[in-house]
Amino acid sequence: MTTFSELNLDPKVLKAISEAGYETPTPIQAGAIPAALTGQDVLGIAQTGTGKTASFTLPMIHLLGRGRARARMPRSLVLCPTRELAAQVAENFDIYAKHTKLTKALLIGGVSFKDQDALIDRGVDVLIATPGRLLDHFERGKLLLTGVQIMVVDEADRMLDMGFIPDIERIFNLTPFTRQTLFFSATMAPEIERITNTFLSNPAKVEVARAATTSENITQGVVMFKASRRDREGSEKRKLLRALIDKEGDACTNAIIFCNRKADVDITAKSLRKYGYNAEAIHGDLEQSHRMKTLEGFRNGDVRFLCASDVAARGLDIPAVSHVFNFDVPSHAEDYVHRIGRTGRAGRKGAAIMICSPRDEKYFDAVEKLVQIEIPRLENPVPTEAADPREEEGDDKRRSRSRRGKRGEDKRSDAPHAANTNEVQEVEAKEERQPRHEHKREDRHEHKRDDRREERNHDRNERGNRGNPRRNAREDSFIGMGDDVPEFIRLSFAERQAS
Ligand code: AMP
Repeated sequence: MTTFSELNLDPKVLKAISEAGYETPTPIQAGAIPAALTGQDVLGIAQTGTGKTASFTLPMIHLLGRGRARARMPRSLVLCPTRELAAQVAENFDIYAKHTKLTKALLIGGVSFKDQDALIDRGVDVLIATPGRLLDHFERGKLLLTGVQIMVVDEADRMLDMGFIPDIERIFNLTPFTRQTLFFSATMAPEIERITNTFLSNPAKVEVARAATTSENITQGVVMFKASRRDREGSEKRKLLRALIDKEGDACTNAIIFCNRKADVDITAKSLRKYGYNAEAIHGDLEQSHRMKTLEGFRNGDVRFLCASDVAARGLDIPAVSHVFNFDVPSHAEDYVHRIGRTGRAGRKGAAIMICSPRDEKYFDAVEKLVQIEIPRLENPVPTEAADPREEEGDDKRRSRSRRGKRGEDKRSDAPHAANTNEVQEVEAKEERQPRHEHKREDRHEHKRDDRREERNHDRNERGNRGNPRRNAREDSFIGMGDDVPEFIRLSFAERQAS
């Protein structure tokens, strides 16, 4: 087995690694670091949890050890699809570079341009950015990319999902041809392959086993759930979620609860709070500072249940998550793998429990096909006769004792929390009132509201639409019609949807 000292890294880097408590390099590190240190391009096929961040950060710090940053000309660039991921890379950089004098700047939306400009003006060695914010700075004439010696693209497959590939291509073209490229993706979709063929030069290809063709440490289960009435689906599903949490008892120290839609992320968090669970929401429409605070709370145990969308939670490194609940079956099967990969990390045991309603069954089939196992069916712990939402409250009170986890600090009371009660009750009442056809319409729009677009939209709202016609077309896309729907067809669809 390779050791870190065999990797010929700068002693300052080795010291930081040992202080971080790492003993041996992970397979992606053992494969990527030696190639990167020779100046070769690297194509890493690996996902979060494999130690990939260090596999590019460590050689970067080593290679940048010599030389000095010049004003407005960063010497290296790390591109990440989401702000959280960029912030996480920045944190990693701080840990590994603590014995060096290297400087960094983090360019992400939701942070003032002024402070970021000031850092760039002074000159930074490492610039960590989301593509939108980086191009904003570039277009404002505040940044030159001609000094970039090393460029990292992290989570390229997610960049593709979020429509960032044209931005990435543009950024590649703004950096010198002679740069070294370290490119990471969990999967190699044809579009990703095209990019790597175009912009990487004879890369060392390092592929690590897809940890997530579901790790053996993770116990999986699914509850096949059918609401007693279509218009009660939301409230009954939330009741089921609470019952599933309660059933796990003390084993559930904390959990990430994934919903497909931002609105459901909010409602689920509010609903859980109403019933006394310590829950917060995180998704792309929330202020960056709020998102960071929530994440920090979840990391340090102040928040026990994190209700999240895929984009907001993707790639986040939170080592000790005991449970993942999939409130919805993800509509993209590979997201299941990413979601449940939030638990069972670093050799720990984890549990992943999913709720599947009849309309999600097609997605569920795709998930089982992908993970190549039959996910065990769990019994619905909610007694059928108690499925009526009017009984929720009393039922919950009875269960209040069992749902207290190890972290007894859940600031819960048995009575629903007054501040949130009205909002959730309003939603629940609205669900009851909503005529059936509206639900159908919601289904049709499901993909349009899919959370994978949230970060992209959020960043674009901030920087104004720079007019990428392909991306705009995608955003207005109609399911089954592809990306470039002629205007007249779009009009007729819009009319029908409005009716
Ligand atoms: P990543 O895949 O970069 O998100 O890393 C996943 C987790 O593994 C992070 O918590 C890292 O701190 C940790 N990690 C990275 N490299 C090592 C290593 N060589 N030994 C132990 N833990 C590591």
